[in-house]
Amino acid sequence: ARAALLRSQKLEAVGKLTGGVAHDFNNILHIISANVQLMLRSDDNGRKRLLNILDAVERGKKLAAQLLAFARRQPLHPSVVNLAQLIERMDTLLHRAVGDSVAIRLTIAPDLWNVLVDPNQLENVLLNLVINARDAMEGGGNVTITLANATIDPADPLAYSGIRPGEFVTIAVSDTGSGMPPDVMERAFEPFFTTKPEGKGTGLGLSMAHGFVKQSGGHIRLASREGEGTTVTIYLPRALQDTPDPAFAPVPH
Ligand code: ADP
Repeated sequence: ARAALLRSQKLEAVGKLTGGVAHDFNNILHIISANVQLMLRSDDNGRKRLLNILDAVERGKKLAAQLLAFARRQPLHPSVVNLAQLIERMDTLLHRAVGDSVAIRLTIAPDLWNVLVDPNQLENVLLNLVINARDAMEGGGNVTITLANATIDPADPLAYSGIRPGEFVTIAVSDTGSGMPPDVMERAFEPFFTTKPEGKGTGLGLSMAHGFVKQSGGHIRLASREGEGTTVTIYLPRALQDTPDPAFAPVPH
């Protein structure tokens, strides 16, 4: 049943992916075909048309490379992780990623439960979220990362928004940036959807975060207000085992 579920999730992701990519490839092929037809009609300005074709081919190559990177997602290697420890270890990396104009504040609730996740992939996801926060804060601002335990009971309003009741640890990444207009928020998880300039965004950060969190048995939620900021909250299922694997045990004090 689990294999079937994974398969259906995969198919859903592929369906979403192919929609956007097919559209982009279609545009590229259209440009090539139009330029070739014009060249066949007359031989004036052939060089310019060849340059247009070359440009379109380059775009196609880049798109194919992104697709391959997306398809080559690594399998998960979950372990029992103490998130406070994981985040504290990422401290230097995160500060470097955001630069001097952005302050990072960390709030960790006491007696945090352990979670069962692939720590390396979670690190990638968190790094992506923090980079998104930085990109939304031109001229600087604050990122707040909050770790807390969360019990979602069946009567919780969140349970109606598709969150499975149970015990989770939440990681909330908040920024004081531009926020997202409703149309961006609606599409933010789509693979290859980006509002960033060419070469800056791939549009894969949030879609990979979504895939990772779903595969880990958790949830991801967006809250955003234009002109005020954005909060991305990740729910990761509590690990049944209480002792974290050695690499992610809390430092004794
Ligand atoms: P990318 O960062 O490469 O554009 P993502 O999938 O990570 O790809 O994000 C998709 C889009 O969602 C971004 O281009 C941006 O418009 C929006 N977005 C993501 N995170 C934030 C944020 N913290 N604040 C404002 N907008 C955001």
